[in-house]
Amino acid sequence: MTETLNKYPEVQNYIGGNFESNGQDKLDIICPLDGTTLSTMPLSNSDDLDKAVKAAQAAYPAWSETPIKDRVQVFYKYKTLMEQNIDELAELVHLENGKTIGEARAEVEKSIELTEFACSLPQLVEGEVLEVSKGVECRIEKKPIGVVASIAPFNFPHMVPHWTIPNAIALGNCLILKPSEIVPISSIRIAEMLKKAGLPDGVLNIVHGAKEIVEAICNHPGIEAVSFVGSTKVAKIVYKASTSALKRCVALGGAKNHLLVLPDAHLEMTASNVVASMSGCAGQRCMAAAQMVGVGAIDHIIDKMCEEAKKLIPGENLGSVISAVAKERIERYITEAEEAGAKILVDGRNTTVEGKEGGFYVGPTIIDHVTPDMAIAQDEVFGPVVTIIRTKDLDEALSLENQSPYGNAAAVFTQSGGLARIVMDRASAGMIGVNIGVPVPREPFSFGGWNDSKFGAGDITGKSSIEFWTKPKKTTIKWNPEAQTNWMS
Ligand code: NAD
Repeated sequence: MTETLNKYPEVQNYIGGNFESNGQDKLDIICPLDGTTLSTMPLSNSDDLDKAVKAAQAAYPAWSETPIKDRVQVFYKYKTLMEQNIDELAELVHLENGKTIGEARAEVEKSIELTEFACSLPQLVEGEVLEVSKGVECRIEKKPIGVVASIAPFNFPHMVPHWTIPNAIALGNCLILKPSEIVPISSIRIAEMLKKAGLPDGVLNIVHGAKEIVEAICNHPGIEAVSFVGSTKVAKIVYKASTSALKRCVALGGAKNHLLVLPDAHLEMTASNVVASMSGCAGQRCMAAAQMVGVGAIDHIIDKMCEEAKKLIPGENLGSVISAVAKERIERYITEAEEAGAKILVDGRNTTVEGKEGGFYVGPTIIDHVTPDMAIAQDEVFGPVVTIIRTKDLDEALSLENQSPYGNAAAVFTQSGGLARIVMDRASAGMIGVNIGVPVPREPFSFGGWNDSKFGAGDITGKSSIEFWTKPKKTTIKWNPEAQTNWMS
């Protein structure tokens, strides 16, 4: 990588085991904590992608024929490298994304856990054999699919690439990663560390860029499968384009998670969970609490939530949002809700951090008496903001949750097992929390929402990913026992 005056060297594409820059147009990478420039990254074109696909195709025969037990050895070593370098990796995520150091460290820990799961794949991908009639046996083996691609969003620069890289590669595929153009630096360390762990050149390739590269990925005939994580608007574009080009695709989209709070909910636990869920990573999580639905008399819980929210100090235990544009968008939603009659209980607008005046901060925000018709109740705001809609009973609360076009997560806070069960059954979301504000399933369970939060069958992580990254080969064998051949003669 070439040295520049920025904090980090220029970001380059990683193709066939080499970092390279082909004189593409460059984008500045801005640190959202203070507005300084961290580095630059290339806006690659379809020729760069084509080169990466060719490198992946060249690596594929040897890699796909390497036994899986040998393939995962790379990930055992890689996991150790991440553990040894976790402080440096977390610092990088903190600087390019703006989340706190603690959150960035938790993100890298999650990447480690995802890699650990990939190390267990040899125990999970065994095929099946059955004698289907006398002397005739059928077997199924799970084979890799070829060259595949993974397109990532800005909010988890290290973890989201680990939703795909370890599993797809351990299962024998060669992968092209397209990181978010807003946070591309972490991916460089992923490539460097995987190479150090022994991953052969060409098995992982990284092509940086924006919309044009995503379009080129969806249309490239050499790419067999596309996984996407990002907004619903782009997830739909990617799903339609890649399936029209006859590829398999799973595309995870945005979210508007509803947290149903019942009057019998545990006061302290509920208040701190809802506030942590809405404010963690400055609300820029697809699992964040966006909409609290208060059922009946819950004023005591809201008062406690306001107390909890006031403990969050931007620049200390609350990170920045990603950009000036994001800050402006979030604050506009808050102002419009206020103008439409909602009550701002905790107001995070116009927040600055001393010494980091160039950063993009929004303080924790709690808005009560929001009505379902307001834009803030319908759209994904993606900031440290929770809106509260009041309902008279659980049916009304569930009906509100069910009307949302999204369906990533939903949660219920109650001491009643019976009422929790009703929400588990009737909420229209792929991931449900009971007294948990961020119900992320941990490996080996898979991650993925419903409705407009995910397009495509199956989930992206855990056991479900095995089906996505492999294709079944069925062999029928007749052993002709009646021939009674004496092979020894
Ligand atoms: P985004 O959709 O703007 O970008 C995601 C990727 O798509 C990036 O790599 C980007 O370069 C590319 N892209 C952007 N516009 C494009 C276009 N018009 N055509 C083709 N490609 C395009 O998302 P983001 O802002 O980076 O990330 C935040 C969003 O991601 C939120 O909506 C969040 O809920 C969602 N997200 C969802 C999950 C999930 O699991 N469902 C996880 C993380 C983030």
